[in-house]
This record gives sequence, structure tokens and C-alpha cells, in this order.
Amino acid sequence: MTRSAVWHPFTQHALEPPMKRIAATEGAYLSDEDGNRFLDAISSWWVITHGHRHPAIMHAIRTATESYDQIIFAEFSHEPAETLAQGLIEIAPPGLTHVFYSDSGSTSVEVALKMALGYFHNREEPRDRIVVMEHSYHGDTIGTMSTGERGVFNAAYEPLLFAVDRLPFPEAGREEQTLDALEAFCRSGRVAALIVEPLVLGAGGMKIYNAGVLAGLREIATHHGCLFIADEVMSGWGRTGTMFACEQADISPDILCTSKGLTGGSLPLAATLCTAEIFNAHLSTDRRKTFFHSSSYTANPIACAAAVANLEVWRNEPVAERIRSLELLHRQNLKRLEGDERFANVRQAGTIAALDLVVPAGGYLADVGPRMRWLFRERGLLIRPLGNVIYLMPPYCVTPDELAHAYDAIDEVASIVLGKA
Ligand SMILES: *Cc1c(COP(=O)(O)O)cnc(C)c1O
Repeated sequence: MTRSAVWHPFTQHALEPPMKRIAATEGAYLSDEDGNRFLDAISSWWVITHGHRHPAIMHAIRTATESYDQIIFAEFSHEPAETLAQGLIEIAPPGLTHVFYSDSGSTSVEVALKMALGYFHNREEPRDRIVVMEHSYHGDTIGTMSTGERGVFNAAYEPLLFAVDRLPFPEAGREEQTLDALEAFCRSGRVAALIVEPLVLGAGGMKIYNAGVLAGLREIATHHGCLFIADEVMSGWGRTGTMFACEQADISPDILCTSKGLTGGSLPLAATLCTAEIFNAHLSTDRRKTFFHSSSYTANPIACAAAVANLEVWRNEPVAERIRSLELLHRQNLKRLEGDERFANVRQAGTIAALDLVVPAGGYLADVGPRMRWLFRERGLLIRPLGNVIYLMPPYCVTPDELAHAYDAIDEVASIVLGKA
């Protein structure tokens, strides 16, 4: 094989063998060029919701290509973008009235931050601080890295990152500290927005906190006139058991970011939803109050058509029931690992299951991460632990047997890396 010119994301090429090439995807599986099949137990980095190449979504994409390619979105609109926006408003928490399109989770968060700053700028209120939660992840652009946890991933870029105020993670029993910290930051009167991943901090290690905290944060933000941004890029589209995680706290954010599962994972697309108040703060005969943001591929019609088809899948298929069964299957499978001394923090949020392998040196760069990855691969599974945190986030089409196979592999692989086999 000739050497590849491709530089892969989050990959240390000096330590990894050449990348296997995937030739096809179907349902819960990836197949490589040698004919090996891998169960995609992490939904190809959390994007695939129903399964790979859902027929209705693939059909919608094919149909859309007969009419559209990219269309400049500052000059014109198109039916897929309009239908999708209407559909999103219908399923989103109440109070969100406008939809701004972009093309990745990171850009949807950048848009959210700019909307928040623009809102206060246009109202001539001097608010410019952003409050975030410890261990958060909001993307890999400079702005989103600024709001995320600092560490080895962004040490090199630190000089360019802007300062934020950080809330401690709401560990069970210490939720009050998180709420008190927000209250204290808000009292400065300078806080423009709070941004949180509702219920589950994904890339930060599948850290789960309760809905009561979310409701408490919303209440404090509202009290102090600080905007509440829900980054539902990962948690949306049923991952935590409800369409959006915010529903479990019975709250509506001022701004909601969605991407990953928006097209069922088929094509890149993102949307930032906001309230009429935020839209109206940018509505003026004064051109300086315009929302100055765009990317070339904003509202790509083919991606929008895929997302419209995804909404149809949610309407026409028993997706909620599939999610219920997956939740139950996780619960049953996790039960046999609870109390097992090899694991700590056995936990679940809807369709996401996670546990920490008990090792002397944890953290994202722990050697056990890549070792486990390869052992899972040998067992026909795509599972990428975050350091010593093993998690499963399969597409909703996964069968009980496939899921049991993933849990058996976790059991076996844990013993191997701990030298207890
Ligand atoms: C993945 C993720 C992002 C970034 O999305 P990209 O599409 O990778 O840019 C932002 N926020 C959260 C919570 C995510 O999980």
C-alpha cells in the first residue's frame, strides 16, 4: 500500500498503524476493505442515531441532488431549510423561535456565543463574560476550546484562548457548590451567558449529573438576566432518553445548539436555535446590528433534506420505543458490572452507558485507552475509551445480542489490560 497523505484527527501517527479503510456501512456495522465487520458501538463519534445509511434518509439525499447543490443563503432561501426550521421549532423546548444554520457542532457553538455577545452589544449592556462547567467540551475551534476544559489537547493554543469563569462539576451530593458558583459569578453583572452540556459531559469523560442541577442553573441565569446556552450537540436526538436533554429538567434554554444526530448522522449540518428576544435584538434598520456570521456551506440544501428526512423517521418510526429498549438493555447489562472491583462509577444516561476502568494512572492519555481500543477491534467492535473511561453509545438499531457482545468484550478486555485474565 502506498503511504497515505491523510492526516487523521486526534491521531498520533507515530504510534498508530496505517488506517484501515472502511468500504461500506450498514445499520450498526462498518465493513473494511478486507471484509472485516465492526459493530459501531460509538455511533461513529456519536453522530449515527438510527443506524448507518437509513434508507429513508439516503433516499431523501438522492432526491435532493436532483434539484440542489449549494445555494447562497444570504440571498435566497429554499424549501428544505424552511421545512427543517419549522420542524425543529416544533420539537424543540418551547420559546425557541428562530433557527440559524451552520455546518458542525463547533460552529453551532461559535454562533451561540456570538448571538449572546451580539445580544448584549446591540442592547448596549456591557456584558462579556462566559460561564462554563468544569470538564466541558464544546468543540475544537479557538472560541469553543476557550469554553472547554483546558488540558493537553489545547495547551499549545492557550495563548489564543479567551478567559472564562468555571463552575465546579456538580458531583452527586455537592450540587449546591455549582449553583452557588454561578450565583457568585452572576452577581458581577458582567455575565453574558452560561453554556452547558445538559445532563452529560461527553468528551470530558461521560460525566453525568442530575436534571435538578440543570433546572437550578436555568433559574439563576434567568434571575440575573444571563443567557442560558444548551449545547445539545451530543445530547440531542434521543441520546439521553428524551429528544433533547433539557426536557428532563423541564427547561427551555435561550439558545440551543444541535448537530451530530440532526441528519441522523448522514451529512454535516448544525443549527443554533434562539428566542425571539435574541433575534429581535439584532433586528434593526441600523445595519451595524446585523448578525455578522456565515459560512460558505450554510444550510446546504442536501444536508437540510437529510435532516427533514430524519424528522420524518422520528415521526413515522417507533424511535422512542427503540430508545426505551436500548435504555433497558444497558441497565440489565450494566447490572452485572456493578460492584465489580475492576470498574468504578458504573453509570447511564438514556442510551449512553459508561464506566471507569480502575487503573493506577487514569486520564485521557492513559495507555490503557489505545490498548483497549485494539483489543476491542480484534473482537469486531469499534469502541474508543476516553482514557480509562469505557463507554457505549450505539445507534438505536443495535440488537440485544450485539449489545451483549459489546458488554462481554468489555468484561474480557478489562481483565486482559488489568492482567487478571
Ligand atoms: C462533538 C461536540 C461538539 C463539536 O461538534 P463538531 O461537529 O465535532 O464540531 C460540540 N459540543 C459537544 C457537546 C459535542 O459533543
